Amino acid sequence: MNLLNAGTVPVSDLLSGFICGVVLVSVWIRYRRRSPAFSFWLAAYCLHAASVVLVAVRGRVPEVVSLLSGVPLFLGGTLLLLLGLEYYVGRTDVARSLRLNCVTLALLVLIHVWFTIGWPSWQGRNLNLMLGLTVYTGQAAWLMLRQVTAESRSATRLPGLVFAAFVVVGILRVFVEPAGPAGQGFLKSGLFASLVLGTNQMLFVALAFGLLLMANQRLFLWLQQDIAKRKQAEEALGESEEKFQYVFDHSPIGKSLTLPSGELRPNLSLVKMLGYTPEELRQLRWQDVTYADDLEPTRSAVDSLLAGKTDSARLSQRLVRKDGSIIWVDLATSLRRDEDGKPLYLMSSVMDITEHKLAEEKQERLNRELAAKTTELEQLVYTASHDLRTPLVSVNGFVGELGKSLNDLNAELGRVNVTPAERERLAAVIERDIPFELKFIEAGTARLGALLNGLLRLSRLGRTAIKSEELDMDSLVADVLRSIAYTVKEAGASVAVSDLPRCVGDSTAVSEVVSNLIDNAIKYRSPDRSLILSISGKDECVRAVYCVEDNGIGIDQGSKEHVFEPFYQADPKKSKGEGLGLTIVTRILGRLDGRAWVESEAGRGSRFYFSLPASGPMADGPRPPRA
Ligand code: ADP
Repeated sequence: MNLLNAGTVPVSDLLSGFICGVVLVSVWIRYRRRSPAFSFWLAAYCLHAASVVLVAVRGRVPEVVSLLSGVPLFLGGTLLLLLGLEYYVGRTDVARSLRLNCVTLALLVLIHVWFTIGWPSWQGRNLNLMLGLTVYTGQAAWLMLRQVTAESRSATRLPGLVFAAFVVVGILRVFVEPAGPAGQGFLKSGLFASLVLGTNQMLFVALAFGLLLMANQRLFLWLQQDIAKRKQAEEALGESEEKFQYVFDHSPIGKSLTLPSGELRPNLSLVKMLGYTPEELRQLRWQDVTYADDLEPTRSAVDSLLAGKTDSARLSQRLVRKDGSIIWVDLATSLRRDEDGKPLYLMSSVMDITEHKLAEEKQERLNRELAAKTTELEQLVYTASHDLRTPLVSVNGFVGELGKSLNDLNAELGRVNVTPAERERLAAVIERDIPFELKFIEAGTARLGALLNGLLRLSRLGRTAIKSEELDMDSLVADVLRSIAYTVKEAGASVAVSDLPRCVGDSTAVSEVVSNLIDNAIKYRSPDRSLILSISGKDECVRAVYCVEDNGIGIDQGSKEHVFEPFYQADPKKSKGEGLGLTIVTRILGRLDGRAWVESEAGRGSRFYFSLPASGPMADGPRPPRA
């Protein structure tokens, strides 16, 4: 019984080929980009499979179709196998050998067609096929055995030997088959044909096995290279992560990776900036360290980043330190996302700009003060010139009058015959008119002098250095009262001083404030009752507030708000000064970070208040609220 007939051979071919195919396809899917060899082998496999299928279906398709296409497909497949091998061993002149082999393939196909249609001959076709296979397998054997590097020779030896065996079988067939009985069909059995088929079958299996081993060795090599590369990449990544961590931790700028939940992953600078320990700060969210008033703008910036509306944000905002103090920061932040676009963390850089901000605020305050001072100065110049003009005009008028009187007197006295009546009139001028005019001139110049003195005192205030010392107000007020004891006694005033809190200021300047206020209380005392003067004070947290109260004539509602203005007199007829005393008081207090105000009722008395910074621990002020 002959098992190697036309039916069983293709079936067993198909079975073993199927397994090879599955392996080849899976290798091709994975490694096709690494080497074109796998694509060529897969194509070769497909062509061989197609030719085997054509043999298997012989009888069911027109004979001429299977005869015409089977052999060219098989030869084409073998050529592709050879090209794949050339790529596999890394030959550089594949294109040249491809051109040459294509020409031989075309010739072989032409001869095959001739022996199929032109001059149908089984022997001719067989001989042609054997020749073609010998040419291709010969090249393959040469390539595998002689053209490879020493390291890959162990893997290429088996396929090389199988190809060499194919060559031997092919040559044998070339010489033996034409000598066989005529009409003996290639697949119509016969001992030689059966032997050839069996050998071929075994060789194909050995070839598939050898090629797989060979590919396997290469795949193993690639795998090793891949592992080495990955290891290298992982090491590089680890190293770069380490470097990033170092740069992040030791950056002089505050940095934080803020998680979408709000939790902070701060660096050392930020930890230091906010005064926490790293562990404490890691427990907090950005909302916990943001100043309450700045929460809303920060939240809306974070929301826009998370929603993808913006890529980055820059904010000037306040943060609250662990001790409750507030710092101004310049914050730049951007969002990092993972490959799927999910937010990973906000990468923020935080710069402490508190000093810059304070300097800016101070500058603005100075500018405002300067503008206010300029307006005040203009006002002062206007009022001063107006007030100086009045006595000046009056002095001028009386000097003119005096000159005229003296001229008249001179003319009268020059005459020889002066009557007694005239003599009497002249005596009256000398005794009454001239002293009267001189009195007005004196009053005018005195007022001018007083005004100029007041202006001088005012201008001196801005130029003299002012100290900031802790003041014992009890002893300061006692000293002032001692210095004006005579005036107080003469006014018949009774003075009560209660316990006065300490404050911070300049002793000379504060003494002038107290002295001015007491002086006014005496000047504007009521003619109907004796003056009662009380000086009291209280501590109001960061300020010390003092009050000088009298039961004098008081100030009417309309004048109260003007009494601190320069040259203002509530009632010029009752006024006993130049209207500069209270102006000096406010100027001094302004320089000492204090202020003055008044409560008064006409006819009943006045309470003049002034405040100064308190001394002691409370002077630090209350802490601003935490977010
Ligand atoms: P003056 O040198 O004219 O006293 P001040 O600046 O000291 O100038 O006071 C301005 C005006 O305020 C005074 O002219 C007076 O009308 C009013 N005044 C000040 N102190 C008192 C007081 N204790 N009682 C009533 N009026 C006062």
